[in-house]
Amino acid sequence: MEKIEHIGIAVKNLEQANALFAKLLGKAHYKIEEVASEGVRTSFFDVGGIKIELLEATHPDSPIARFIDKKGEGIHHLAFGVRDIDRHIAAANQNGFQTLAPHAKDGADNKRIVFLHPKHTNGVLVEMCEDKE
Ligand code: ZN
Repeated sequence: MEKIEHIGIAVKNLEQANALFAKLLGKAHYKIEEVASEGVRTSFFDVGGIKIELLEATHPDSPIARFIDKKGEGIHHLAFGVRDIDRHIAAANQNGFQTLAPHAKDGADNKRIVFLHPKHTNGVLVEMCEDKE
């Protein structure tokens, strides 16, 4: 793992959360992006090179909708930037972690991403992400 790339926060209303975080951080989000395959609309803030990713569900079956139903709004995942995500996926599975998908898939912000099951990471949903070439 190279660095903390971003922190994902589940929110019910992206517009309201954007306004709130803009007030908190003293700067506006720099982009909004929908990832249809994940059922999310995201916005990004840059805080000293580490991003805050706000996540809003786009439909009731979205993983973010289910997360909010169960736990309410709040920190959803911690994302680590990696190089060679395929090697990290193989190593994670070898080392007793469990990736939620066998291969990396396209995520927001021009990344290839994969999640690790939180039952093996002290309850923290961990994302590994790599910049697409
Ligand atoms: Zn993320």
